[in-house]
Amino acid sequence: MKPALRIHALNTVLDTPRGMVRAVDDVGFELRPGECFALVGESGSGKSMTALSIMRLLPEAGRIVGGEVDLDGLDLLGLPEAAMRSVRGRRIAMIFQEPSTALNPVLSVGRQIVEVMERHTELSREEAKRKALELLRSVGIPDAERRFEQYPFELSGGLKQRAMIAGALAVDPEVLIADEPTTALDVTIQAQILELLARLLRERGMALLLITHDLGIVARMAHRVAVMYAGEIVEIAEREAFMRAPQHPYSQKLFAALPSPRRRAGELAVIQGQVPPLTQEFRACRFAERCDQAFDRCRIEAPAMLEARPGQLARCHLREAGPAAPRAQSLGSHESIKTASGEGNVLLRIRDLQVHFPIRRGLLKRTVGYVRAVDGVSFELRAGRTLALVGESGSGKTTTGKAILQLIAPTAGSVRFADTELTTLSRAEIRPRRSAMQIIFQDPYGSLNPRMRVLEILLEGMRSLGIGRDEAERTARITRLLGEVGLPAEALGRYPHEFSGGQRQRIAIARALAVEPKLIVCDEPTSALDVSVQAQILNLLRALQQRLGIAYLFITHNIAVVEYLAHEVAVMYQGKIVEHGDVDRVLGAPAHPYTRELLAAVPTID
Ligand code: SF4
Repeated sequence: MKPALRIHALNTVLDTPRGMVRAVDDVGFELRPGECFALVGESGSGKSMTALSIMRLLPEAGRIVGGEVDLDGLDLLGLPEAAMRSVRGRRIAMIFQEPSTALNPVLSVGRQIVEVMERHTELSREEAKRKALELLRSVGIPDAERRFEQYPFELSGGLKQRAMIAGALAVDPEVLIADEPTTALDVTIQAQILELLARLLRERGMALLLITHDLGIVARMAHRVAVMYAGEIVEIAEREAFMRAPQHPYSQKLFAALPSPRRRAGELAVIQGQVPPLTQEFRACRFAERCDQAFDRCRIEAPAMLEARPGQLARCHLREAGPAAPRAQSLGSHESIKTASGEGNVLLRIRDLQVHFPIRRGLLKRTVGYVRAVDGVSFELRAGRTLALVGESGSGKTTTGKAILQLIAPTAGSVRFADTELTTLSRAEIRPRRSAMQIIFQDPYGSLNPRMRVLEILLEGMRSLGIGRDEAERTARITRLLGEVGLPAEALGRYPHEFSGGQRQRIAIARALAVEPKLIVCDEPTSALDVSVQAQILNLLRALQQRLGIAYLFITHNIAVVEYLAHEVAVMYQGKIVEHGDVDRVLGAPAHPYTRELLAAVPTID
């Protein structure tokens, strides 16, 4: 079949103060009509830069320095910008993780879709409006007439994402590039969007370039897969072959780093070290410093793409000797988690916790009602145990966590921590107990003082809570902690903005651990991290729990993380816990229809 899009030897560089970064290095693949081709890899691997190069939408510092992008015989890299503008949106469309960046906030949703059609087609305004309404319905937006007139801020994240997809499809593009289109969405909405995209491929024969870091989504959606590492493609394969037996050691590690029930008794595989700087010219294998199968030749000779099996190519010297064995499949059994501390005493006892936020209207801001964000939540958490609080956005998980720590005043109910009722304490009485109850957020940037170096950030809490005998002991402890969370000691002298998102999260975890807590409320701490970094953080949290008997209230929407880390799980829906129990029982035989719906929506790799 003739490809819809052919990328050949694409090279893109970024001019940065550190030098020229080879962000996309000799990348090539084909995209066939009706096919979903997944581009997989971790942050900085070059996936998004590849997509932006195809669209010629690079940031100012970016330049395409070689290669071809062929759209059904049309050389996109040779087109004048005016001609490229008409290709963009008409023949190739792109959707992003964050729909707000693609939607104009001052135009109604419908108007934006109509404008695309007016620009690229001969349709009259009336015809364009009719088609826009059809599109809104086809992407599953209920009450399309009303939504047509609404502005982006009036739509939820899921509806905005659908509106963006409707806009991208307005002119029947031959190719759709979707860059992490569901990463910011709840799993049930994600499942609907993925189903919608799959239907569009089937019905319209559109080709989809799907950029994702989620192997579960690859398993559900992709026909073929390419894995990127450090700017180059290291493996290309049909989905089934890739899922059964990934051929590149990096691909194998990505699978091994995924949390799953069968790995509960042990540690997740981690990929040691960092991605090498892309400012250098590589003469050896880029993965050599992190590869546990590396041998001498890997450090002096860059591997070529080799056919490990028919249709499955990997950039690895080892494939000269034949294909790698299939990866171990899930055993389906849940091994029990061993905790050094065993079943500890009840550390936290929550009874009928309520947090209601007033709804205020009118000039005088009169209270006209209440949002029952947390509506009668009760549970217990023992020392050394992990309770996962799962549910979708707005279900009340985070509010519950904050109310337990008294960061939000509960409306009613009891929070007993280490036999002390917290709800009746004053702020001054709470302060000395803060070291025992820490919180880690999804985005640590907001909670790290940008004007303080890492050493000062970590010392601050320890000093105020009297941890460590003197500065030398505190600094030694901090250096050890940094090593444990996977950061080099030289990080101590740097500021938060000098780190990646994953590294900042490690700093936040080190800060929480520095004050020797008994309870940590972990609010989606790994959801913004790459899978290999997530594995390190999960291993670390597990090891600390086993050694120190810390209890975790783990707020997450990631069921695989729950399966791996939690002893118990409580499912929240609209401010209430609808199901609570042992993790094996709840995930293995869910009793509540909402739990069943939630679990069914999770894309899995097996
Ligand atoms: Fe590992 Fe060597 Fe293969 Fe590179 S070429 S992935 S270092 S075994």
